[in-house]
Amino acid sequence: MYDYLVVGSGLFGSIFAHEASQKGFKCLVVEKREHIGGNCYTSNKEGINIHCYGAHIFRTSDKEIWDYMERFCEFNHFINSPIANFKGEIYNLPFNMNTFSKMWNISTPKEAKEIIEKQRKTIKSTPKNLEEHAISLVGIDVYEKFIKGYTEKQWGRSCKELPASIIRRIPVRFIYDNNYFNDPYQGIPKGGYTAIFEKMLANAELLLSTDFLKNREELSKKAKKIIFTGAIDSYFNYQLGALEYRSLEFKHKILEVDNFQGVAVVNYTDRETPYTRTIEHKHFEFGNQEKTIVTEEYPLEWTRDIEPYYPINDDKNQKLYEKYLGLAKKETNVYFGGRLGEYKYYDMQDSVKSALEFSKKELKGLS
Ligand code: FAD
Ligand code: UDP
Repeated sequence: MYDYLVVGSGLFGSIFAHEASQKGFKCLVVEKREHIGGNCYTSNKEGINIHCYGAHIFRTSDKEIWDYMERFCEFNHFINSPIANFKGEIYNLPFNMNTFSKMWNISTPKEAKEIIEKQRKTIKSTPKNLEEHAISLVGIDVYEKFIKGYTEKQWGRSCKELPASIIRRIPVRFIYDNNYFNDPYQGIPKGGYTAIFEKMLANAELLLSTDFLKNREELSKKAKKIIFTGAIDSYFNYQLGALEYRSLEFKHKILEVDNFQGVAVVNYTDRETPYTRTIEHKHFEFGNQEKTIVTEEYPLEWTRDIEPYYPINDDKNQKLYEKYLGLAKKETNVYFGGRLGEYKYYDMQDSVKSALEFSKKELKGLS
């Protein structure tokens, strides 16, 4: 008999399994994919670590979270400075003086602020949706070139129907600074992410290529408690209706050139290009291999037979999630965590934080 059955070997599940094993608890980790690591998983081809489920750049402002991750890896000094490609025109992201200067042929913060100030005035009341929020933040030009097309492709919905929270984390700066993030700690684990999970799961037992939901009865009998990090609505057989998610398709290509796009991430912000991003993996680790591997990221409508990558945290889905949370609270000895278990647009650092808080609470006084 195991103490814990952990469903999912992503960050939440692996951290919990690690913390519980450290305290002497027996854990069985069940993962439906054929590998560990969830969406952070990296594989190696041509000497290049491939971010198989899209660019994963670790960042945080919380030193404790950074130190915790550094128990399992060493981060390099990568700083994410993506490029926007709008119909072939190239701009720096996030929105900063480099972007504004190319867009309006200006050079000073004063000029940029004046232009944006004038354009923001079209939004008179408190912004009600993503479109209004974006215009009131950066004005109409930036919205139309860099946000509208990208966001509507990515989410498959009009910016008028989306919550502003989706873009709140993108910085707007009146200095010449292309760092996509504000956090003081940022990097890519040297050697890729998968080794982190191998270390976290070293003392747990692991069943790969096993869907808990298809073997629920048999697996549930194996442990006293269950930690479920899959989609909360899938656990309840979608009995209250399905929550909505956004999915993606990744097309990986090996190219016979050493440097394809000169940067790790390019965002295609126009509507016409069918993918949202291209990633050239070698640049995450400053590689100089002969070949290169590039991934195109195509947004997809989610259906039950494909991966739910992004929760859609609008009012409608949030209300439905609250109802599932009600059901979750009635389950005995089953706990839900992580991006899908909590239905939250979590970054890695958020999943780490949530997993550590949960582990502390759950394992307190036990062992
Ligand atoms: P997951 O990684 O989703 O792990 C859940 C695991 O459970 C999966 O392995 C899944 O296969 C398994 N599972 C689900 N259902 C079952 C079942 N029924 N039976 C068995 N196993 C099951 N964060 C950042 O901080 N920086 C970034 O740059 C970044 N980029 C991202 C890019 C993309 C395209 C995506 C999709 C996410 C990105 N993230 C990024 C977010 C990051 O991936 C997540 O925050 C983190 O991986 C969440 O970990 P988790 O354990 O909660 O979930
Ligand atoms: N976004 C945008 N233009 C860009 C980059 C991002 O409009 O060039 C918006 C888009 O709605 C996206 C959100 O900002 O979904 C969050 O962007 P981020 O890069 O954080 O997305 P993630 O890495 O989570 O896919």
